[in-house]
Amino acid sequence: MAKLDLNRIEMPRQDPSIRINNFGEVALGYTKDEAIKEANRCIQCNKRNCTIGCPVEVDIPEFIKALREDNLPEAVKLLKSKNSLPGICGRVCPQESQCESACTLAKQKAPVAIGRLERFVADWERSNKDKLSTSINIPPPTRKSVCVVGTGPAGLTAAADLAKLGHKVTIFEALHAAGGVLMYGIPEFRLPKAIVQNEIEYVKSLGVEIKLDAVIGKLVTVDELLNSGFNAVFLGTGAGLPIFMNIPGENLNGIYSANEFLTRVNLMKAYQFPDYDTPVKMGKSVAVIGGGNVAMDSARCAIRMGAEKVQIIYRRSEQEMPARREEIENAREEGVIFRLLTNPRCFIGDEQSSVKAVECNEMVLGDPDESGRRRPMIKPGSEFTINADVVIVALGTTPNPLISATTQGLKTTSHGTIIADEITGKTQKHRVWGGGDIVTGSATVISAMGAGKRAAADIDKYLRL
Ligand code: FAD
Ligand code: SF4
Repeated sequence: MAKLDLNRIEMPRQDPSIRINNFGEVALGYTKDEAIKEANRCIQCNKRNCTIGCPVEVDIPEFIKALREDNLPEAVKLLKSKNSLPGICGRVCPQESQCESACTLAKQKAPVAIGRLERFVADWERSNKDKLSTSINIPPPTRKSVCVVGTGPAGLTAAADLAKLGHKVTIFEALHAAGGVLMYGIPEFRLPKAIVQNEIEYVKSLGVEIKLDAVIGKLVTVDELLNSGFNAVFLGTGAGLPIFMNIPGENLNGIYSANEFLTRVNLMKAYQFPDYDTPVKMGKSVAVIGGGNVAMDSARCAIRMGAEKVQIIYRRSEQEMPARREEIENAREEGVIFRLLTNPRCFIGDEQSSVKAVECNEMVLGDPDESGRRRPMIKPGSEFTINADVVIVALGTTPNPLISATTQGLKTTSHGTIIADEITGKTQKHRVWGGGDIVTGSATVISAMGAGKRAAADIDKYLRL
């Protein structure tokens, strides 16, 4: 067995004092030497735990082997045979709870930096396109056509896999740009939009057609799509409807859902206003409510948009925060203040009906609730206020009911997610599959991709019956 090297190569990053003034990428990526050095830490285990830990089953040891042998075209080929969006996954996937947590070296607390290597290979391909053969082996057309609804990671993955199997795929997307949350939610400094565009172009190069500004349920219904010649429909419409707290004062001016705030900043490029048309109101003192990746992204955008003080209000302790550790650390380095064990009770406005403060309670943690995390409880008599002239509510999202309300026979849960088989993605409606956040509620990019992949395999099986 090869000798273990426990010194993981650190990712170069922009210094916090510099990056708070720009929207450029924070993590700068490995150089080739760094990537090969990190790849050499892989001990090429016989039992490939890392691959088992990957929801899209990338052959991780093989692509790492090709990389360290300096055979980058082969590394690209191996990676993309399973994952059509490697530049995205290499940046935003929670590898620490997937492939890297399953890596043999994780027991020594130094798993191979699989995500960073994936990103390196994807970025190398992007800047060396001219040296690579562009031909993709696609079998002869099957004459079957599939409609995919939504261009997030679930829809793009299902579409790419179905196209690679010879089916004709058309995706309908409600917005004017493809990519779902990758485009409108995750900020440029974590996931540059040029990377997303590049991977969407790859999906298109497989023959997938994308129709933008097409809201299914309004323009046409799923039933009409099925009657118009599509043999199957995959629903990957995500969970884009924000959840609010329903507490007094929530309609005051200056209170945004994270969804609206991030869409304005990222998709509509408010950070380049007035070069782009969409402005966003930015306060001196911003409160962000929530403890997930969306809250971290909102807080870090607010810092970059010029807020003087940005505070995250979260009702449990840091240990229970659902955000990635790396993102919590990044936010802290950038000056975000964490008000933990704190929960809003109402919002206070000024004479112009603009928010000026959040009245809160201190919380204590009780026994675990149904989520397995300790239940937050109000500490009696603990009311206090936090000044804020902008508030961003980042408490999660649910699916928009448009599709379920306009599709006969599609069954939903009490949370509004559609019911679909966990393995195949088959819904209770004939010829309709679903996957990603519309089935699970807000989750992760890679789980949405895994669902898209499994559904594509099942749709293919059905189409070949
Ligand atoms: P989405 O990405 O939501 O895509 C759905 C698409 O369907 C959208 O483009 C939408 O416009 C379209 N659509 C909706 N309704 C219709 C309709 N009726 N007709 C046509 N089109 C429609 N996950 C991670 O793994 N790592 C992270 O770091 C991370 N950070 C995040 C940060 C933010 C701010 C947010 C909001 C989420 C983050 N996530 C992260 C979660 C992750 O992005 C989602 O789990 C993932 O994008 C879900 O993919 P999806 O394809 O199911 O849906
Ligand atoms: Fe390499 Fe870790 Fe996979 Fe083993 S488990 S092959 S060390 S990446």
